[in-house]
Amino acid sequence: MIAGIELGGTKTVVATGTAGGIVHEEWRFPTTGPEETLGRFINWLRERGTPTAIGVGAFGPLGVNPGRENYGRLLATPKPGWSGFSIIEALAAAFPQARVVIETDVNAAALAEARLGAAKGLDDVAYITIGTGIGAGILSGGRLIHGALHPEVGHIKVARQAGDDFAGVCPFHGDCLEGLASGPSMAARWGTPAVDLPENHPAWDTEAWYLAQGALSLLGIVAPAKIIIGGGVSQATGFHLKVEALLKNLAAGYFIPLQDGPYIVAPALGQQAGIIGALLLTSHS
Ligand code: ADP
Ligand code: ZN
Repeated sequence: MIAGIELGGTKTVVATGTAGGIVHEEWRFPTTGPEETLGRFINWLRERGTPTAIGVGAFGPLGVNPGRENYGRLLATPKPGWSGFSIIEALAAAFPQARVVIETDVNAAALAEARLGAAKGLDDVAYITIGTGIGAGILSGGRLIHGALHPEVGHIKVARQAGDDFAGVCPFHGDCLEGLASGPSMAARWGTPAVDLPENHPAWDTEAWYLAQGALSLLGIVAPAKIIIGGGVSQATGFHLKVEALLKNLAAGYFIPLQDGPYIVAPALGQQAGIIGALLLTSHS
């Protein structure tokens, strides 16, 4: 038996399935404290058998480099009780025979979309999510990128849209990408939650501008063959086309991967990308 868990800031998804990403059984519940959340997964799994491998996609900051002391451990996070918690130790204690593979939630989603979704067959893919925060997973040459910890694409600096003087909501940087374009930043900037902003509201041009800036940086640094944008905010009508048009403008004909559009696309696996990615991690080297 293969199992997966997607640990999100607000909800957790657990599943049994195959290392090829097929979900057999799935359960979703709100993320609470670490012992309770992992405990629910462990009990649910025990009722179903003994897993040989468990893939984990989790929110961060998180140690994701195998061999480092902090592998599988949550680092300083404002989420109560989670700082320093070792996901890998909790799972190893419950299922000592199981191989546990841990990645960021966004890397898991990037892997799923690259293997089975909107970027099927591609080895160079970025997956950006826009929800409560902004993050990106990156598959490069078939490998999930870590760096010294993991990329923090949400916190890159972006060029201001002309006339924009909104301070931004990131507690660390104010006007980083996440500070200017996350769901909470849209609510703060416009006084209305993103989900309630009408299709023709100028908010969507501003939002697309900042995502195009983020996409341009990714294009310049890792040259993805495709960029997928998911998360709640990305569901606004026409959003991907808007970002692509602005990105092409910024790119000014220079970046070759952009030339075989569509380049900025919606996830094909939707809400399932994370949990499918968690299962796939068990067979990804
Ligand atoms: P989380 O990061 O907590 O998983 P989500 O990815 O669900 O969050 O994104 C939540 C954000 O998405 C909220 O800001 C909400 O207003 C916005 N949102 C949800 N649905 C839509 C929609 N259809 N169009 C635009 N924004 C949306
Ligand atoms: Zn920031």
